[in-house]
Amino acid sequence: MDKHSYDDHNDYSGKPKPSGCGTVFFIIVLLYLAYYFISNGGIIKKQEPAYNTVDNSAAQHYKSYYDGSLGSCGDLKGKVLIVSVFISDKNTSWDTANKADQEMINKTLRDIKSAAAYLKEQAAIYGSNVDFIYDWSAYPELKYSAQFKSVDMVTAEGTYYNTQSTWIKRNIDIQGLKDKFSADHVLFINFFDTALSNPVHCWSLGASSFPEGSKDTYYIELINLFCRFENYVTMPSVYAHEMLHAFGAHDLYYASSQIPQSYVDNLNRTGSQDIMFTVTSSDEITNYVSPLDAYYIGIAPAPEEVSYWKLSASEH
Ligand SMILES: [Zn+2]
Repeated sequence: MDKHSYDDHNDYSGKPKPSGCGTVFFIIVLLYLAYYFISNGGIIKKQEPAYNTVDNSAAQHYKSYYDGSLGSCGDLKGKVLIVSVFISDKNTSWDTANKADQEMINKTLRDIKSAAAYLKEQAAIYGSNVDFIYDWSAYPELKYSAQFKSVDMVTAEGTYYNTQSTWIKRNIDIQGLKDKFSADHVLFINFFDTALSNPVHCWSLGASSFPEGSKDTYYIELINLFCRFENYVTMPSVYAHEMLHAFGAHDLYYASSQIPQSYVDNLNRTGSQDIMFTVTSSDEITNYVSPLDAYYIGIAPAPEEVSYWKLSASEH
């Protein structure tokens, strides 16, 4: 059946007809579509990436295991590798000979542990089994240090995303790590030894932060974790909040193209403890991963509030 015969049906459908004809026409269209997809190898074949072919370029190498749509994290399930990178930049530095710095480095590992345990427990509520591998004291290949002495990387914007992701691609054998640990996803946390007076909040940047079409560029999911900010020593709930971003969760404490102000107002009114809305300042994480967050990180169906509040669709 070619396209011309399909157009003939369109001519027919233009005439006034009883509703039964509509049903017949609908069935004919369905049969046509079924024929079309079977004769063309089906939708699945059409989506097959062209990058199965061998190519030695870095881009092709990464595309062999990443489809460009959901970043290096994907759904919050399976095995997730967390790679810690301790960055020294123009104004901050890590000195492992300094006791206070070493204590902070050790604290980051304890806080990842708390956040990972929390996320595992929360994911289980939605029937998702996730395991995090992060312990660089047991696996030194999960810990790196990087120097960017000429730039101030502690910024609220993703100005240095490309600098950081390029460094990661050049210095970390991502595929080798994934193979070694049989991991499904990889998340990078960049730690900065900021002072308590640092005003910049932590942030996460990767594929889920960008519109369709530009995601190939942002497949490395990274968190810039500023170890102190606004007189706080960054707490485990912030780690968990930022990690959820990497898997697709949205901030809920301000209006955005995904979340309307009316929904933010509603969370304020009800005193929500959703971790994407608020975080606890203690070492214990008392917030929860809501059904909406679970939907955005790919482990639950859309809750009713998505259509009620006109929230954006999940990317998963
Ligand atoms: Zn956030």
